[in-house]
Amino acid sequence: MLKLENIKTFYGNIQALKGVSIDISEGEIITLIGANGAGKSTTLMSICGIVPPRFGEILFMDQPIHNLNPNKIVSLGISQVPEGRRIFPYLTVVENLDMGAFLRNDKDAIKQDLEYIFELFPILAERRHQAGGTLSGGEQQMLAISRALMAKPRLLLMDEPSLGLAPIIVKQIFEIIRKINSEQKTTIFLVEQNANLALKVAHRGYVMENGKITLADSASNLLSNEAVRRAYLGI
Ligand code: ATP
Repeated sequence: MLKLENIKTFYGNIQALKGVSIDISEGEIITLIGANGAGKSTTLMSICGIVPPRFGEILFMDQPIHNLNPNKIVSLGISQVPEGRRIFPYLTVVENLDMGAFLRNDKDAIKQDLEYIFELFPILAERRHQAGGTLSGGEQQMLAISRALMAKPRLLLMDEPSLGLAPIIVKQIFEIIRKINSEQKTTIFLVEQNANLALKVAHRGYVMENGKITLADSASNLLSNEAVRRAYLGI
């Protein structure tokens, strides 16, 4: 479904990605783990066109997307839950969700998706007329995920959904990730520092160090890999 071929991404003179290749098949949950500054967020921003790669190719459903603008990429079926949530604080929950659907015009389906989201996150239904900025951190993460889902993506990119959240909320968010994947058949590319949880929910994983992929394997193999356990699982 998504193929990154030897992509190299820069911020000015700084090379953040040094030839990254990743393959994601439809229906998978794939995680990308790595330390601070490894290049995980840059990988997601390269895919969604915010920081396009200077070299290499990105193919989505066999179509090159590395030269497309972010709006076009969203319209093809890729949406992102950005790190730090970045919901619209002065808009209500429902208005935030409407923003997620801004490229769609299938009104009835949008309404159904809104109902599905309120089933997934009943707390958002309760808070539907509340300003996004007044929600708790966990609720804002739920809203950020829901806003991305309102674009009806085939591929959902998630940047550190567990960041700064209480363990019980993190557990809930990971259960939802599994549910979205199995019920909606949404393919998920999950960037996480919480490698333990990410590898438990994912089918396969990639390890990134210093702008390069250093390991790629099934999630269960990575969970039992000695080097991964020492570096990322604190075992
Ligand atoms: P974290 O887990 O801390 O978010 P990360 O693995 O997502 O880290 P990136 O944010 O992708 O890492 O950063 C990769 C490299 O690119 C780092 O060396 C970082 O300092 C650099 N970088 C990121 N954003 C910029 C920017 N806007 N300008 C210059 N350098 C940047």
